[in-house]
Amino acid sequence: MKLIFRGGAQEVGRSCIELRTGGDRYLLDCGVKFKEDGFAYPKGLLDVPGVDGVFITHAHLDHSGGLPFFEHKQLKGPIFCTSQTKILTKILLKDSFEVARIRHLHPAFSKVDLKEVKKDIRVVRFDKKFTHRKVGVTFYNAGHIPGSASILIEAEGKRLLYTGDMNLAQTMIMKEVIPDYGGPIDILITESTYGYRDLPDREALAQRFLDKVEQVLAQGGSVLIPVFAVGRAQEVLQILSLGEFKAPIYFDGMAKRITRHILSNPSKYVKHKERLAEMFYEVVHLVKNREERDRVAQRQGIFVTTSGMLQGGPVLHYLKHLWHDTKSAVLLTGYQCKRTNGRELLDHGFVYMKGWRTKVHCQVEKYDFSGHSDLTQLKQYIECVNPKILIVQHGDPTSVVHLTSWAERSLGCDVHGPRVLDEIDC
Ligand SMILES: [Zn+2]
Repeated sequence: MKLIFRGGAQEVGRSCIELRTGGDRYLLDCGVKFKEDGFAYPKGLLDVPGVDGVFITHAHLDHSGGLPFFEHKQLKGPIFCTSQTKILTKILLKDSFEVARIRHLHPAFSKVDLKEVKKDIRVVRFDKKFTHRKVGVTFYNAGHIPGSASILIEAEGKRLLYTGDMNLAQTMIMKEVIPDYGGPIDILITESTYGYRDLPDREALAQRFLDKVEQVLAQGGSVLIPVFAVGRAQEVLQILSLGEFKAPIYFDGMAKRITRHILSNPSKYVKHKERLAEMFYEVVHLVKNREERDRVAQRQGIFVTTSGMLQGGPVLHYLKHLWHDTKSAVLLTGYQCKRTNGRELLDHGFVYMKGWRTKVHCQVEKYDFSGHSDLTQLKQYIECVNPKILIVQHGDPTSVVHLTSWAERSLGCDVHGPRVLDEIDC
């Protein structure tokens, strides 16, 4: 078999690996990468017509966002993913289309293509092997977000495992990943987002987070918590369920719709759903519209809302009311990409609001509730899976180099850290 890395190789974004086997052509993920002036799609895919199947690990747009573009270009084929991924992908694609249009980024596809994607999706079940044309395929829990999977492909007598984004840490939202793939793995393609460092202990981090929320409220301030709509928003609700606060919790933005879907659809590997349901339906106050948003933002409260990197969404409305208040705090809950408002805020104390560069006087702290495995977990995982060939991708060059050099020194397998458009025969 041959692997061609169309994206996500020595980079994070537009994950897409082409697998050629027995004259067939399959894709593992089909994402986009966000740029200031639009999107970058997987490279070189349009040179060859037709695709025999697309396997999507999870809904995040850096893994699914390329689907409507290739649909538009008639690069059609059945798309396989879990039921949660189908629902969440649909919401995220539609939202990205609308946001792109509002920001005049001219998405390279139309609304019709979103419908076509939906038509082509075939839902698969976790842990159940199925055969599609010349390959056997099984989706396993990846612990990253609801619906997320690592995908095992069996072809030409070989077993290839693609982790997708994977979280091996215990979180409050996803069940633990058990790396049992029903036999030895010949080729392991692993993500390496945190291939260069470890993350803080999650329980201790959650406690520090809760302490900070209480402290800010006690001083008379409000707490603004920007969250990613899928996964982080739900986990933050779970964490807040452990505290007792003197101010109400307001929940706003796309996270509301996503949470409703997560709660109302079967999701084998999502845990503590009852507690999440109780928080969502009984404890938090769901903010309905702009008027209500402006009203509640003037009160003391805990505001949990999208977007996680302050790039848009209701979070900026709340900030409009809070930016000057030194008693209030913005608690970031995840990775902040370069050139985003969240990163600007963290590094320089500024955000762009309605085009104005605004100095934020609130306290700003970041809590690393990552959805990815850290360095120690990745090493343990790779040792446990013990592949003959190891391919490291979905990481910045630093991460990829760090992890591949460790593997070359410590393991007896063939190690690769491909770049975009590199090919590997295996
Ligand atoms: Zn992801």
